[in-house]
Order: sequence, then structure tokens, then C-alpha cells
Amino acid sequence: MLADLHMHSTASDGVLDPVELMHRAAAAGVELIALTDHDSLDGQAAARQAAEQLGMSWLSGVELSALWQGQTLHVLGYGFDPDDESFNAHVQGVQAGRWKRAEEIADRLASKRIPGALEGALAVQRTHGAELHSPPARPHFADWMVLAGHVRDRAEAFQKWLGAGKLGDVKQHWPALPEAVAPLRAAGGIAVLAHPWQYGLTRSKLRRLLRDFAAAGGRGIEVVNGQQPLDQVAYLGKLCNEFGFLASCGSDFHHPDSPWMALGRMAGMPPDCTPLWEDRQLSLEQARFTTGPARE
Ligand code: AMP
Ligand code: MN
Ligand code: MN
Ligand code: MN
Repeated sequence: MLADLHMHSTASDGVLDPVELMHRAAAAGVELIALTDHDSLDGQAAARQAAEQLGMSWLSGVELSALWQGQTLHVLGYGFDPDDESFNAHVQGVQAGRWKRAEEIADRLASKRIPGALEGALAVQRTHGAELHSPPARPHFADWMVLAGHVRDRAEAFQKWLGAGKLGDVKQHWPALPEAVAPLRAAGGIAVLAHPWQYGLTRSKLRRLLRDFAAAGGRGIEVVNGQQPLDQVAYLGKLCNEFGFLASCGSDFHHPDSPWMALGRMAGMPPDCTPLWEDRQLSLEQARFTTGPARE
């Protein structure tokens, strides 16, 4: 039974609405699912209803942005109470920060003679049918920069303007790592560090991060993210066991046009890791799920 615990809808920077996304996941054979939009719970209720109608097992999910030693991190949250008022208020606070951040990204681009970026990013969101209480994220800015002829493609937009350390990489709106994890735990959720490989940290700095993450109450790491190379998966699997973390896996699906991040298609989990869904706190009826291997 296939588990996919990381994906995005139009409630953040995905292009499918939550219900469409659940249909696509079910068609791909996914049987345990979590929708993990960036700093948003807006898609949860509709996705859950659709997932359960389609016969999939459901976990509440979110991908929280956080700051650690000047670096933006992503923390996946699972199994929290979606109606917990203080967690909802916390997430809404981060969303409000995202709106300010979107304005700041646009102001910074305008100062470099790239005007109209906020309106442009909002227009891109609208083409996906997104409801516009979700603030535009960097991919929306990137797609607008392509449409407006400022860059050739999305990759160039990130390389020149929006990627780590570039002008549009505004990160001061994120809560510090412990402040991101605490409200999630208070709502009964489990914190999992998303795609630990993607931060480009040295091995010793990654170990420091994992120590700090555990101290902040983090309980798992995402050992498998999309079609991640197997040597990375094996390395993360070892770290996962060394730190006594639970192991999670997900496609990180955003878009049907990115075949390397297709729903339900990812590398297999190392057999000696303890999968997240076996944790008793999540009280899934049966822990009978697997990940990949990637299949056609
Ligand atoms: P934000 O949440 O606004 O900081 O945007 C981050 C999102 O941008 C990530 O979740 C990815 O979906 C996307 N992203 C980050 N870096 C890149 C990149 N180099 N190329 C394409 N997309 C990226
Ligand atoms: Mn994203
Ligand atoms: Mn992420
Ligand atoms: Mn993601």
C-alpha cells in the first residue's frame, strides 16, 4: 500500500486544487495521503473529504517555513488537530507574514526596474484557479518573470533573482525553528524535517541541525523526497536511525508537468527505518503502508 506524505495544492504553490489533487493521487495508487501546503491549512478540509471518499487513509499535514542559523528550513507537520484554534491562529500569522513578504519581494524587484511583480504573481495564481487568500510564493513570481520576459525560464528566475541568497529570497518573516515546532506539537502534531539534503549543508552542520531539531521537539526526517538519488536516501536513512527519528516519504508534487515529482512515485524507504505511520501517536488503524519503489 503506497504512502505519499508530501504534496502541494493551490492553497500554496501547487497548480491543482485540493480535490483535483486527491483524485490524481488516488489514480496513481496512493493509499495513505497528506496534503502539505506551505504555511496553510486552507486545503485540508476539502482534501480530506475527497481522500476519504476515494478510499485513501488521511493524515492532516502542513509544510511550515522556519529559520535556523540564517537558513530557511521546511518542517512538515502531521497528525495535528486541524481544528486546534491556537495552531490555526499561528499558521494564519505566518500567512500574514507571507503577504508582507510578497510585497517586499515585489518592492525589491521594482527597485531593480522589474515593476508590477505582485500583480503579476497574483495573476499567475489566478490562472491556476487559486482562491486568492493564499499569498503568492516565489514560484508564482518566477512564472510571472518568465511571462513578462525578464528571464527565459523558471530556473533562471531562481538563479538570478529568487533563489537562496538572491534579492528576492526574503526570509525574515519565518518563525525560528523552535517557534515553528512548538505550536504544531501543542496541536498534537508530529514535526518532521523536510528534505534535509536540499539545504546544501555540510555533513557536520546537518548533524547540528538534527540535534537542534530534536531538541526543539522534532521527531522525524523526510528520508525520501521525490525521485531523490538512492545514495542520498541511504545516507538520510542512516542519520534517521542514528538520531532515533521516524522516517517519512513524499513526492513533493507541485505540478503535473514535473515527472521527477509525480504523485506516489519515489524511491523506496530503507528497510531498517521506522516509518512515520507506525508511530502510535498517529493511531492509523493499521501500519501497512510502503513507499515506492518508483513505478510506471
Ligand atoms: P517560498 O515558499 O515562497 O519561499 O517558495 C519556495 C518554493 O519555491 C519551494 O517550495 C519550491 O516549490 C520552489 N523552489 C525553490 N527553489 C527553487 C528553484 N531553485 N527552482 C524552482 N523552484 C524552486
Ligand atoms: Mn513549493
Ligand atoms: Mn519544501
Ligand atoms: Mn514541499
